[in-house]
Order: sequence, then C-alpha cells, then structure tokens
Amino acid sequence: MIGAMGFLSRRRAEPRPRWLTRALIGSLPIPLALACSPGSEQPSPRFERVILLTCDTLRADRLGCYGYERSTTPNLDALARGGLTFEHAFASAPMTTPAVSSVMTGRLPREIGAVPGNRRVLPPEAVTLAEVIAAAGIPTLAVVSNWILHERADEAGARVGVAQGFDVFDDEMERQERNRGEFERTARPTTQAAISRLEELLVQGDERFFLWVHYQDPHGPYEPPPGALRELFAGGALPRSAERLALGTSSKGAGQIPAYQALAEERDPEVYRALYDAEIRHFDAELGRLLGFLRARGLLDDALVLFTSDHGESMGEHDHWFCHGENVFREQVSVPLILSAPGSAAVHWKPGERSSALAGQVDVFPTVLAALGLEGPDVRGVSLLAGAPAERILPQDLFSPKGLVPAVSDGRHRAVWSAASETWALYDLEADPLETRDLSSEDPARLAALVEAHAELHLELNRAALEGSDLSVDVEGEGRLRALGYSGDEDD
Ligand SMILES: [Zn+2]
Repeated sequence: MIGAMGFLSRRRAEPRPRWLTRALIGSLPIPLALACSPGSEQPSPRFERVILLTCDTLRADRLGCYGYERSTTPNLDALARGGLTFEHAFASAPMTTPAVSSVMTGRLPREIGAVPGNRRVLPPEAVTLAEVIAAAGIPTLAVVSNWILHERADEAGARVGVAQGFDVFDDEMERQERNRGEFERTARPTTQAAISRLEELLVQGDERFFLWVHYQDPHGPYEPPPGALRELFAGGALPRSAERLALGTSSKGAGQIPAYQALAEERDPEVYRALYDAEIRHFDAELGRLLGFLRARGLLDDALVLFTSDHGESMGEHDHWFCHGENVFREQVSVPLILSAPGSAAVHWKPGERSSALAGQVDVFPTVLAALGLEGPDVRGVSLLAGAPAERILPQDLFSPKGLVPAVSDGRHRAVWSAASETWALYDLEADPLETRDLSSEDPARLAALVEAHAELHLELNRAALEGSDLSVDVEGEGRLRALGYSGDEDD
C-alpha cells in the first residue's frame, strides 16, 4: 500500500500516476500561465476592519445571487447587490480542513501540509492571516462552529491549526449532531457568540479588527428549524418526488444516502434537497442578524466584508448524494465569493457588479491583507481588490488517504479526473455549469493544455513536499470522536 507520504515522496523516475499519463497522450499542450503570486504592485484601498464570513458545505448555485430559484439567501443577495460577486470561484479542496487552511494561508493545501484527508492540523510553521494581522497590532477574533476546526494546542500550549494567530478563538460547541455525534454550533448561537465577542472588543475601545465567523448549518445531517421551512415552503410542506434512494450503511454518498444523512426511513431525494435549502435559509437569516448588528454600530463603514464557503455538496449530480469530499466535480468545489465594502467608494467595482474571472480560496489571504494595508509573505493567491488576473489556472484537488483526485480550471473550462472511470473529462463552465457534457474528444488540445499545466504544478508541489515537515494528525480529536462512536471517516 502506498501511504500518503509515500505518494508525496515519489520521484520523477517512478511511474507516473494514471491521471497524469492518461492526460498527456497525443496532444500538443498550449502554454498556460500557472497560478502565481504577482506580489502587491497595485495600491489597494485600506479599510479599518475586515469581516470574513464563511459557511460550511454551501455550493454557490444554491444562493439566489447565483441564480437559484428558491429564496434561500435574501441577506447574501442584498450583500451581492451592493458588492462584487465572483461567478467562477473555487475551493482548493472539497473538504473542510484543507479548504479552510487554504483560506487562512493563501496557499494550496499541499503547500502547507493540510493533506491528505480532513484530520490533518495546519502545522504551526504555516503563516496564517490572523498571525500577520495580529503582528500589526490589530485585534483578531474568530467564531467557528464546525467541530473539525476546533482549537488545538502544541506541547507548549500555543495555538496551532487554523486557530493560530487569533487573540480570541471561540469554538464552543455543545450540540451533538444527529447520527454522527459530532459537536457543532447552529447559526443562532454562532451569531450570538460573534456579537458578544464584538461587544467585548468595543468596550475596550477597539474598532479596528479582523473578524472571522464560520457557520456550520448546511452541513449534514440537514435539520433546519421549522421556521426556516415555513419561510421557504408555503405552509412548511416539503416538496416530494417519486424517486427513491438506497439508505446507505456507510458515510459515503456514491449511489446512496450516506448513513449520517439518513432521516429515519426517508428515501426521497427531494426532501433532502429541500431540507438543505432550509438550512441555508436559516443560516442566511442569522448572517443577516450579524450584519444588522455591525451596521447599527457603524462597523460596516470603512469595512471590507468577504463572504465565501469551504466547499460544496452533491445533490445527486454524478450519482453522488448529499456528500462532499468524494469527487471534484463542480457541485463539490464551486463556492460563492462576494466582496462588499458598503461604506467605501475606493473600490474598483460598482455595486452589484459580477466578475467571470477565475477566483479561489487562495485569494482570500492577499485580499484581506491588502484591505488592511498590510504586507504578507508571497502566496499563491492574488488580491481581488486589484481585480483577478485575466489568465491563470487553479487546481481543485481532492487529496484523500487513497490518493490524489485532481481537477483544474482556467476560468472558462475545467478538466476533471474521474477516479471511477480513470479518465479525464473537459467541461465548459458557461455552457454546461453542471458538468454533464464531456468535451474531451471535441477539444483534446484544450484538455491537454489544462492537464499539462496541472502536471507542472503537481511536480513543483511534490518537489517542495520532499523538503517539507512531517504532517501532524489530530490524535486527541480522533480519540474524542471514537469515544462518541464516530467511525473516523473523513467526510467533514
Ligand atoms: Zn466543510
């Protein structure tokens, strides 16, 4: 068996993985610029505060401002109407830990030891957004409600993981999820905790800050409060279909309802889709409450608000049901990305503007630092305050303990590796947003160019990994989960 480090330390003389050899046969590559850091050439507007709002398991096309027909996100839609919406934004990975680690460092998960799987803790040597901001004397606060992001400490008691650099890291979670038994915090107490932490800060006279709030609600199992159901569906009656799915016995969502998602004997996928939407509606209402608090205190003036999610969720596409972290199709890696600066005229966008430029989680780090007028280390992302680059590629890789499942986009197309069929497919993001029509035989040169660019990146990252540090595993967390009867599957 080839373990994770075995894979990382493969040398070029060894056989190439099948996804790589399959891609390079028979086509001439077209040169494409790899994603890179252009530095901070352009002056950026400065803001007093940055408010980073993230939501777990929220695929972009379920938001009203991304075209969804149900009224799931009135508050985010209002934020988008006053800001800039990126239509082609992608997660760096379809799992919480590598994705959030990418947000917090501006780097790809493999560059910072946040792979494989979901139980790797961001190593202390990774430079985080909060560390750079705190070093400049600006207060840093976080409120997170997904258990996988909880605070860890090293042997000396210092914060590690995504908590590093935060003055305040509020990860109090008392509610245990149905089926999984994992701890979480729902949207209402999440917003309440954020407001309380802000009030504590304001008492000290600090109005300059970096706040990160991570909501958890759309993550399964889907259990929205009845009020959200009533708001979304007349009379609270769930839509139904004649379709029936198998109830799975594992946490996997290929061809079945994952065991942790199962709601009694319910097998109608339309019910699960509706409940997922209602979870989003509930989260959005609480996000609106937090924004209302900030607005009432004048804290949105001179503030940059950045909203995104960690990854998406399959709703039946490609025969995957109510899961993530299992493939790299668009439904699992497409994320919303909205910038809003309600009180500032010094931005390059007009209210309600939309960008089709390729953006990614790696761009959050340089964008936030630019907003605060701070310099940071070179990273893979770029500041979106200066506009996204016209030409780039970004990978959306699933790096599971079983190996790498790659995907890559240039903003107009995506190349996606199917582990099941061991083939690459090419999709047109504009014409085929759900990635149902494979263009690989029609446009093999474009596919080859994308995969060649990804292969170059892959080899660069492998070389870097050879010199990297050991990965750390959250042993304490594993033990706590097992004590709860959790299987340890990596589906967070
Ligand atoms: Zn997640």
